Amino acid sequence: MTAAAISRLLAGKVSITLVESEQIGIVGVGEATLPHIRAFNQKLGIDEAEFMRTTQATFKLGIEFRNWGQIGESYIHPFGTFGDDVEGVGFHHYLNRAGRIHELQQFSVPVIASRQARFQRPADDPQSLLSTFGYAYQFDATRYAPYLRSRAEKSGVTRIEGRILEVSRDTESGHVTSLRLENDDVIHGDLFIDCSGFRSLLLGDAMAEPFEDWSAWLPCDRAVAMPCEHHGPLLPYTSATAMLSGWRWRIPLQHRTGNGYVYSSKFTDDERATQDLIAALEGKALAEPRILRFKAGRRRRSWVGNVVGIGLAGGFLEPLESTSIYLIQQAITALLELFPDGSLSEVERCEFNRIVNLEYDRVRDFLILHYHATQRNDSEFWNYVRTMPIPASLEEKITLFKQRGRVMQYREGAFLEPSWIAVYLGQGIVPQFYDQRADGPDAATLTNAIDGLRNELQATVNTMPDQRDYLTMIGGVA
Ligand SMILES: Cc1cc2nc3c(=O)[nH]c(=O)nc-3n(C[C@H](O)[C@H](O)[C@H](O)COP(=O)(O)OP(=O)(O)OC[C@H]3O[C@@H](n4cnc5c(N)ncnc54)[C@H](O)[C@@H]3O)c2cc1C
Repeated sequence: MTAAAISRLLAGKVSITLVESEQIGIVGVGEATLPHIRAFNQKLGIDEAEFMRTTQATFKLGIEFRNWGQIGESYIHPFGTFGDDVEGVGFHHYLNRAGRIHELQQFSVPVIASRQARFQRPADDPQSLLSTFGYAYQFDATRYAPYLRSRAEKSGVTRIEGRILEVSRDTESGHVTSLRLENDDVIHGDLFIDCSGFRSLLLGDAMAEPFEDWSAWLPCDRAVAMPCEHHGPLLPYTSATAMLSGWRWRIPLQHRTGNGYVYSSKFTDDERATQDLIAALEGKALAEPRILRFKAGRRRRSWVGNVVGIGLAGGFLEPLESTSIYLIQQAITALLELFPDGSLSEVERCEFNRIVNLEYDRVRDFLILHYHATQRNDSEFWNYVRTMPIPASLEEKITLFKQRGRVMQYREGAFLEPSWIAVYLGQGIVPQFYDQRADGPDAATLTNAIDGLRNELQATVNTMPDQRDYLTMIGGVA
């Protein structure tokens, strides 16, 4: 992603060498994304239908959370708004006033469409209810990476297949000067972007940038992944089902379903987790189970000296809200905006690190919310996360919503008001009070407006095609 973006968006300004090792390979299980990925693909001039065919992608309208607040419950965190704000007052305040806040999920086009496996691209007309949502993709990451690589090579990137064995640094400045490969080739450079994954060869190893460990808040440290055959309708959403010691993902692609169980090794073991995943598969397994190990957290700084860590080299947050590829994209965007023009400056590094750290911290709080806001007490894992101390920044956000129904606002960061509302209410955090400005309409008018909107939303979704038919129509089927 980094080489493809920089080579295209800084064409003629930089010369890029990309070193990769097929022997080592990529993590390759990142399959679910956030809507921002569309802007990334567009900037790279990628045709959507071609991309969907190449990566066997499906459209994604949100994430379903099953059994998180309590066993038997399910809600969707949609990419879209709930209801209609009236004069700047959020719709959930009106629902709360009417005593109907538990009906929130019925007031979202992407939630209703997800439940019916329907999809179409959003409308441009802001008056249309079909303009109230966004969408992302679920795709095969092992096909996306080579697709981007070939585009990067066409934009002038020199790709070298080889394993990096040694990193040399200048004794005075501490900057990286060159990389030595297994075949003794030496690669010199001015700026080194470390995309070496969990190994963090340059940022972590060579520059020794400390890792901030967040596993006390996010104790899941392993995953077992296993794709299976796909049956039934092509669902336009990812599922995250809470398990006894973590949660399980299900990501429907065109040619298979991606599955994985993300768990904490403190509360279960690899064998047990693998058995639990196999027992839950909805089709014939298509590969052997694969165990991945990780730790939640990030490097204290992502840009140090002349090394910028992007992706897993910079940090990792579990895929509960499909944020890793998003974090990569945000880092690339920030780097492009602050790309050194001749010399390296501390100001640029600081601003880059501020942006990247803020993005990580906000996602971190959002993820912790899912675990902490549970009523489950059926396993040691859930007892731990339900009662653990949480960051003060999250404590404040939860209290504000509980007391006032208000979502803390910020300009930077992945998840905005509707996302927080979806999770708060989905997991049983109901505000004590509503915004007093929602007292405007009389009770009968309010009831009629709410019922009218619900019917209109349902009728609108009924006009949307089935996702499989839509994919065929746009030429997106492989
Ligand atoms: C269980 C799990 C599920 C995930 N699910 C999602 C998801 O649904 N959505 C999402 O957005 N993200 C997800 N992610 C994250 C996603 O997989 C990564 O963000 C993504 O794969 C990018 O990884 P990367 O490029 O940083 O590292 P990697 O994929 O590990 O790539 C590292 C690259 O560095 C090269 N390399 C390493 N060492 C050397 C060396 N010595 N010499 C030469 N080359 C070297 C490798 O060959 C490879 O090309 C998930 C991650 C995990 C662990």
